[in-house]
Amino acid sequence: MFWHQVALTRQDATVEETSGSRARLLAALRDDGPASRVELGERLGVQRTRLAAELASLERYGLVEPAGHAASRGGRRSTMVRLADNLRLVGVDVGATSIDVGVTDARCEVLAHASEPCDIRQGPMPVLGRVLAMTATVLRDAPGRLVGVGIGLPGPVSYRDGMLVAPPIMPGWDRFPVRDHLARRWGCPVVVDNDVNVMALGERHAGVARSLDDFVFVKVGTGIGCGIVVSGQVYRGVQGAAGDIGHIRLADDGPVCSCGEVGCLEAYFGGAALARDAMALARSGRSPVLTQLLEDHKELAASDVATAVAAGDGAAVGLVRDGGRRLGQVIASLVSFVNPGMVVIGGGVAGLGHQLLSEVRSVVYRRSLPLATGNLPIVLSELEGKAGVIGAAWSASDRAFQAVTTSDEAVAAPAQL
Ligand SMILES: [Zn+2]
Repeated sequence: MFWHQVALTRQDATVEETSGSRARLLAALRDDGPASRVELGERLGVQRTRLAAELASLERYGLVEPAGHAASRGGRRSTMVRLADNLRLVGVDVGATSIDVGVTDARCEVLAHASEPCDIRQGPMPVLGRVLAMTATVLRDAPGRLVGVGIGLPGPVSYRDGMLVAPPIMPGWDRFPVRDHLARRWGCPVVVDNDVNVMALGERHAGVARSLDDFVFVKVGTGIGCGIVVSGQVYRGVQGAAGDIGHIRLADDGPVCSCGEVGCLEAYFGGAALARDAMALARSGRSPVLTQLLEDHKELAASDVATAVAAGDGAAVGLVRDGGRRLGQVIASLVSFVNPGMVVIGGGVAGLGHQLLSEVRSVVYRRSLPLATGNLPIVLSELEGKAGVIGAAWSASDRAFQAVTTSDEAVAAPAQL
């Protein structure tokens, strides 16, 4: 058994050290792409003989493969190594009203993607049934060896237990064992996280916050939430509820929120609140564009406000300004509290674009301490709805790399290893 040979020949390396450095090797190949053995050894500070043993082991697991020769730096040419081409990760982004599923290679590049509307209130079995079916479809489009699945859910998630805990207006989801249910079906590690946290990871891996260790990602969609990345890690809090800024109270006499309280940020500027205010404007006749859209569609959504803003409708612009000001107030407090290196705004309502952005910027720059805003970009996400899928796949890769290189699984691996 190969694992035992490694353990015996490397008596100074504990099991954790070995599995930890294998996970680091895999993560380096994911984040920086194919590399020569010499580069890898230098970058990770691993000696040549140990690196060779670990790469050989990872190759036997089918996780890495040779990728030709590197250009010579004098002496022998070094072999290039990359993550195996057939490895597949699946990232799932379940929103309140939609499901997005993407299959990626081991570097989290999306190879196939599917999206469909879905009401989260149908409960876990119907919704996860759709997730399983959509995953089967995207894996047919980009077949390979599935090594991990990540899934983001729109509510407070216990990351440790892989389930939602007491989500408002999501009947049947409270403590439903999402991770274990899906892991049984797929036979690979599954990571469950809050949807905003996985979007933040997507921004860090492939979006505007690439390589930033400290930033906040604010999602404005049906709900409003915030992913807090500190020292390169998502900060989840004790119960996984950190960043739940949608229910910060802005006024004691504000509109009623879906959580049962009044005056929450979300009750002013979430997707449902925006649709409500747009309908009121349309009926009042103060917004000609919204009135026309209401006549055409019989109902208005947050996206109609974006259409009206793009058409230069003054009343719709006023709605966005009011919402942006309230969002800006909350973000200003966040900035004072976390001192992030960037604020990224994403989610459906972020489609309101630069009107929203300029309002948020003016409030934050006015209200936060100059030291915190001196070099603080406030920007819109550029991933156009893919942030959740990419972040979930990235999170799954981390878990998969660790699982596949821990002692238990190595011992349990087939005899030819
Ligand atoms: Zn609320």
